[in-house]
Amino acid sequence: MKSFLFNKKVLVALILPVVLLVLSFNQSEEDEIQSKYKTEYVMVLVIDGPRITETFGDSTHQYIPNLANVLAPQGVLVAKFRNNGPTYTNAGHTAITTGVYQKINNTGLELPKNPSMFQYFLQQKGLDSTQAYVIASKGKLNILANTKDKAWKNVNCPSQFCGTDGKGIGYTNDAYTWRDAQSIFSKYHPKLTLMNLLECDVRGHQHQWKEYLEALKRTDNLALILWNYIQSDPMYKDKTTLFITNDHGRHPDGHKDGFVSHGDKCEGCRSIYLVAIGPDFKKNVTLSTAYEQIDISATIAELLGFDFPVSNGRVMRQLFVNDPQKGY
Ligand SMILES: [Zn+2]
Ligand SMILES: [Zn+2]
Repeated sequence: MKSFLFNKKVLVALILPVVLLVLSFNQSEEDEIQSKYKTEYVMVLVIDGPRITETFGDSTHQYIPNLANVLAPQGVLVAKFRNNGPTYTNAGHTAITTGVYQKINNTGLELPKNPSMFQYFLQQKGLDSTQAYVIASKGKLNILANTKDKAWKNVNCPSQFCGTDGKGIGYTNDAYTWRDAQSIFSKYHPKLTLMNLLECDVRGHQHQWKEYLEALKRTDNLALILWNYIQSDPMYKDKTTLFITNDHGRHPDGHKDGFVSHGDKCEGCRSIYLVAIGPDFKKNVTLSTAYEQIDISATIAELLGFDFPVSNGRVMRQLFVNDPQKGY
């Protein structure tokens, strides 16, 4: 009898931890299911080269009424977003797609040294090339669809439609880019898309102040049209996260040629914005955290559930509804 009791105690002592372990496994499995993100599609809209003093640095928001008054309140505004690398077009876009800053030829003759988020995403999810897209008004941005990296060159590349007729040459009007983007969206519903709109940058370089301001309003309007399109499409609706950002800023007044150019390390060139809207992000929140361009792909990898180990960026945790540091 004594030995039976002893055995019973031993049995309980042996079994109880196992039972607790199994229960805790079930619990953590459940937690994992519950914490899965609602985002299934991601779009990154890059508005090329506006100056912060005409966007979120202007408290009247007169040139970006939709971004400031309609879109940002539906998500998170990172008001002090940064390009901390080279501040020209191909470098800024490459930082966004590879998560690494690098000097890169700005004419489109050089591929990024690192593989992109598109390639890691397509490979790990086993998706075909129509499920990731680079759509750009600037033809030279077709470099974003490939890499110099020997192990990754021509591997799991996204589709691209850049520049004139999508041929990777020249510049095309943003209105055409948006028209072509809609055809691509309705035909393939790509899960990961980057789209570039060029007009702010081009008008700046042309030294056309009034046209530059008009371009700010036109691209602001296209950003709203894109979000409305997403929310009116049955597949995209409530499952899509949209990042709206810039590749670089421009020089402030009194520095070099002011709004006309960009490309150095001045505050004007580094200062950009990020508006991030989606089912997993907070609403009507402005963050002053100095998140930066290379953080976008790391955050997308978190949202879409793939590993992107070559990125130097960090997940922008404060954007998420389930951010443990609430109140930021
Ligand atoms: Zn640019
Ligand atoms: Zn500058």
